Amino acid sequence: LVVGVDVGGTKIAAGVVDEQGQVYSRVKQPTYTSSPEVTLQCIAAAVNEAIAAAGIDRVHIGGVGLGIPGKVDPEQGIGVLSVNLGWRDVPVRNWLEDALGLPCAIENDVRAAILGESQYGAGRGVSNLVYLSLGTGIAASILIAGHLWRGAHGLAGEIGHTVFVADGTPCRCGARGCLEALAAGPALALRAQEEIRAGRASLLQRMTANHTDLTAEHIFAAAAQGDDLASQILSEAASHIAYAIYLLAMAYDPQMVVLGGGLAHEGSPLIEAVRSGVVRWMEQALIFREILDEQALCVTSLQRDAGILGAAALIIARHAVAGEAQR
Ligand SMILES: [Zn+2]
Repeated sequence: LVVGVDVGGTKIAAGVVDEQGQVYSRVKQPTYTSSPEVTLQCIAAAVNEAIAAAGIDRVHIGGVGLGIPGKVDPEQGIGVLSVNLGWRDVPVRNWLEDALGLPCAIENDVRAAILGESQYGAGRGVSNLVYLSLGTGIAASILIAGHLWRGAHGLAGEIGHTVFVADGTPCRCGARGCLEALAAGPALALRAQEEIRAGRASLLQRMTANHTDLTAEHIFAAAAQGDDLASQILSEAASHIAYAIYLLAMAYDPQMVVLGGGLAHEGSPLIEAVRSGVVRWMEQALIFREILDEQALCVTSLQRDAGILGAAALIIARHAVAGEAQR
């Protein structure tokens, strides 16, 4: 048994998981970020609570896997840079191993997620896989011949900060027109606010007291009710996301692309529009069509447990590699 911990900027989710991906407990705690030590204490508390909630003796826990937002050094166990947590060079693994008395492994959250998909999810057993996370940020992770591809600087898969529209909307990374500034959750909300401020009529105006409170969820709900503005915003974002899938498939030649993150719900208007956009690329681009067919584009099947299972896979996948070497 292992503990998987999904460390987010606002909440920490932890759970006890077995090798088959069965989840024995789920706990959720707010993330306090006044200092790295405070956040590490929150993580340790969540791990202890998850073990207690599963009603399992600690001696049966083989380790703790953690998915962390931002840049991570998995070898040294260091959280190198996380804007969401306010971390810079935090010795996460050593601190937690001392506090918990259990072996720990850390990885960037989007990279942990692809391990979860290949171990338990839609990409089970697939060794060449691309995972695209769509949420408050956008990033991809890549599995090549069963190995995580991090790149020379740990920056492989930064498709969210790739310019899709020259001189477009400013992005928090400093560039303009990045995919993330066009199609991530906050970008959708911002687009809606601008249109409403400019006098565009929309159901969205009635959904919140103040249009600055608008979120991507409101836009999904308005689009489901046939709202023109919401549908237009989602269709524009979807065409950028479809282009990202086309680029990733052309660059890495995967067997499958899995979509995850807070914006990826099967059957939602955004995902339906992304699928249509990808089909249009298949019709136009001969080589792309040879790489990906419609069945090879999936939405994560792990749902609410995706973060916990991805983090757990860090320990479970490591054991699988160790077992391989012994044989
Ligand atoms: Zn950017």
